[in-house]
Amino acid sequence: MTIFYKFGNGLYVNITNRCPCGCVFCIRQNGDSVGDAQSLWLEREPTVEEIISDFEKTDKTGCSEIVFCGYGEPLERLDAVLETCRYIRSKTDLKIRINTNGLSDLINGRPTAHLLKGLVDTVSVSLNASNKEEYNRVTRPAFGELAFEAMLKFAQDCKDCVPEVIFTVVDVISEEEIEACRLLAEKMGIPLRVRVYEGAN
Ligand code: SF4
Repeated sequence: MTIFYKFGNGLYVNITNRCPCGCVFCIRQNGDSVGDAQSLWLEREPTVEEIISDFEKTDKTGCSEIVFCGYGEPLERLDAVLETCRYIRSKTDLKIRINTNGLSDLINGRPTAHLLKGLVDTVSVSLNASNKEEYNRVTRPAFGELAFEAMLKFAQDCKDCVPEVIFTVVDVISEEEIEACRLLAEKMGIPLRVRVYEGAN
């Protein structure tokens, strides 16, 4: 079971394959190998004890940040993420980032951004689109009409709780749509990163 894998200067954490979205560009539909991980499909989700034990065993040379990412939405396992972050914080000065679809409040049925305070350095939210219709077309969220606004609110809330919040879009969407995303991000005071298509979150 691959829990930690290196990608660039990041040490990525893969703790769940669950996700309430079905993005048209998601790597979950296109393959299963990123960085030095053989396969990110989990036969079962690792316990927090297993995550911590694997973290201790993993060579962190050359890594400057820990990134909770995918194949799946990390905040599907909010409590496990928080507990793991607490442990990592107590052991290293490595920065911690969460790559998320921003739907944590809907997934967990309550506001959640404040829980990341003091534990996470960066929250990277997949903006994906500039409006609800396009967002739903691209991400096909299980929460339907509620998703787009909830994602924006989560990103907004994170600004008060973590040092850095960024929006991302993948470069597979149109130039026009990227520009519209840039305007929306600017209006919310959140930097937008256009990332090269790689797969999940
Ligand atoms: S890209 Fe991310 S949010 Fe979209 S389906 Fe894949 S894991 Fe879920």
